[in-house]
Amino acid sequence: AKYKDGMKKSRQTFSGKINDLIARYRKVDEEFFEELEEVLISADTGVATVMDLIDELKMEVKRQNIKDSEQMKEVISEKLVEIYYGDEDPKTEKLQLQTGQLSIILVVGVNGAGKTTSIGKLAHQLKSEGKQVILAAGDTFRAGAIEQLDIWGERAGVDVIKQTAGSDPAAVIYDGIKAAKSRKADVLICDTAGRLQNKVNLMNELAKVKRVIEREVPQAPHEVLLVLDATTGQNALNQAKTFAEATDVSGIVLTKLDGTAKGGIVLAIRNELQIPVKFVGLGEGMEDLQEFDAHAFVYGLFA
Ligand code: GDP
Repeated sequence: AKYKDGMKKSRQTFSGKINDLIARYRKVDEEFFEELEEVLISADTGVATVMDLIDELKMEVKRQNIKDSEQMKEVISEKLVEIYYGDEDPKTEKLQLQTGQLSIILVVGVNGAGKTTSIGKLAHQLKSEGKQVILAAGDTFRAGAIEQLDIWGERAGVDVIKQTAGSDPAAVIYDGIKAAKSRKADVLICDTAGRLQNKVNLMNELAKVKRVIEREVPQAPHEVLLVLDATTGQNALNQAKTFAEATDVSGIVLTKLDGTAKGGIVLAIRNELQIPVKFVGLGEGMEDLQEFDAHAFVYGLFA
């Protein structure tokens, strides 16, 4: 139901256009595929991904000897999910947390993408699952970032470890780890600054933060989540590439999917970057973070 509401815009255009296509064509011919290709590309699905998908669909049409376009809705849904996961096991694409010991999640992304909001939502979600969560206010650079995280901490009912603005992010995160250990927390979520203008600075800062985490907790960070704004399309993809070069990103949090009709960006990210989308943001509220599941997503599009 969450997918259905949060993806109203994508649903209306994406499945609306495909349904319209199916109604107009009846027959599955070359022109049908050409129009389908346009619909998919206009939804930010990414040219390479669309080409793969169209090839797969053509083969499937031949294999099943499909004549009637009505049957295409199911085939398109199936293939979208297949193309999304590729050879990966959907289970390994979920958030990977430790049981019975501290897990550390590092969160990166540019300002305005929805980093603070997503951290708040995730803290709330993990807490609702019975986990003890602590936040570390590692974005000491952006004015107001610490206060904003504090507000989300209060909302979610979790502690926020912080220092003053301008202090060393690695020192804040070190404090966070110490607090998480002594309070026997299950999850520590670390915020970081999102300076992308200067790639070298970004790399150095993330490397320093990671060194502290790795030194204090073996095998950590367990997740490095990159927060991307779905409404920025190609720009989100470019940001992702820069961050992926700066650090090992283990998953994407794709925010503001409720604010775009171009839900195909999910596929473009997965296939062009080879990084799984682990969560999607479907609104501004605390409950509006959904663990990503390609099957539920695709079937939500056509629901
Ligand atoms: P940050 O600078 O990356 O920490 O970004 P914020 O967390 O402050 O978010 C920037 C704006 O985006 C805020 O107004 C949020 O309410 C809004 N926002 C974040 N996630 C979502 C989402 O999934 N959907 C919608 N509609 N708005 C969002």
